[in-house]
Amino acid sequence: MNNADLLQRSLAAVWHPCTQMKQHAGGELPMIPIARGQGAWLYDFDGRRYLDGISSWWVNLFGHANPRINAALRAQLDELEHVILAGFTHQPVVELSERLSALTGGTLGHCFYASDGASATEIALKMSFHSWRNRGRETKQNFLCLEGSYHGETIGALAVTDVAIFKDAYAPLVRSAATVPTPDARKAEPGETPADVARHAAAALEKHLAAHHETIAAFIVEPLIQCASGMAMYDPEYLRLARALCDRYEVHLICDEIAVGCGRTGTFFAHEQAGIKPDFLCLSKGISGGYLPLSIVLTTDTVYEAFYDDTTVRGFLHSHSYTGNALACRAALATLDIFAEDEVLEQNIARSQKLAATLAPLANHPRVRNLRQRGMIIAFDVVSDDPRFSRHFYRAVLEREVLTRPIGNTVYLMPPYIVNDDEIAHLGHAVAGALEATTCAPA
Ligand SMILES: *Cc1c(COP(=O)(O)O)cnc(C)c1O
Repeated sequence: MNNADLLQRSLAAVWHPCTQMKQHAGGELPMIPIARGQGAWLYDFDGRRYLDGISSWWVNLFGHANPRINAALRAQLDELEHVILAGFTHQPVVELSERLSALTGGTLGHCFYASDGASATEIALKMSFHSWRNRGRETKQNFLCLEGSYHGETIGALAVTDVAIFKDAYAPLVRSAATVPTPDARKAEPGETPADVARHAAAALEKHLAAHHETIAAFIVEPLIQCASGMAMYDPEYLRLARALCDRYEVHLICDEIAVGCGRTGTFFAHEQAGIKPDFLCLSKGISGGYLPLSIVLTTDTVYEAFYDDTTVRGFLHSHSYTGNALACRAALATLDIFAEDEVLEQNIARSQKLAATLAPLANHPRVRNLRQRGMIIAFDVVSDDPRFSRHFYRAVLEREVLTRPIGNTVYLMPPYIVNDDEIAHLGHAVAGALEATTCAPA
């Protein structure tokens, strides 16, 4: 096997995600065949390597071919790979549910399983609506989301997603939710703090809820960071105020921690930093260590009890074929074991400080704006008129042995939690070099 061979066959047979395929055919966008991964590195067939600066689309927490997750999966393979979860149960799914619930302090005591993040969003929306209906609140049929929100790309999830490039083409198919202003800290006027921006945004939320709460089932948010719309970071004060407003107006709060959960922001769950508890919590991406598709919706006893009844159709009759897959649950348990055994959240404090230090010199770069960080995500915006900036930067950084995928003009790093000092320095050099290569002239 070599790079060129696999590349040709891939372009002929595979429809790649989130891609205008013609850009690959024209050679404008390189496609990288990967032979194997080891730790934070990916290797092609011709001896080139790439440092995985975005955890393979935010999923990989402890490196590729992680020995402990591999061993756990090998052992699970000999026991049970998968069994129907309707009417049957198994050890990994029970143990994972217990452990996740314990991580929420027991406030979210019931776990519902699916495979992808978008399905978790759909499940949370359906459960919220249906639980209100089961309690006689039939008018609660709408949802509310933030400006710039991203909750997945199936048609139901697009209803609460506000990213034009993913949504506009399908707008006629989607029953769009209302949006309220984002608390994105970049909106701060001179003299304002991120908490001020959060309070203004919460005032707009209050106005919307005061007028429409009778028809709103749930408000869905990405706690602390709206990742997909460009790593928009905001003050935890917003979540505190939103929680209080949702309580006051009897609207469920759904925390979509598909990207920001599993330690990404510094705490295991991002909402912990606001000291709040959601009614629904969506997890996916990192929960299986980046090994297998797994998503989970956790919810409260109150929601669960709204479905618990003698009547079948008052139950939550939703399913996916691979719901509660034993291998995926085992990978998640191995991932939680690593968090505990290696004191990962504590170790990541030093790691995130090193990430900050490696990009700190860019803060004064004439084309860099809004250098920002929370935990293991660091981002900045680049002033550039080039509509193809993100593709040019992507290429320039690949040439420097690093994988990143800028979102528009936002460059970010979101590495696995095993990057060492040398690898962090390599990330910094590659990003700085690519920045020079793509923005030669000063702004
Ligand atoms: C990635 C993501 C999703 C969708 O997950 P998929 O597994 O890609 O369907 C939903 N919400 C957030 C916040 C995400 O980052």
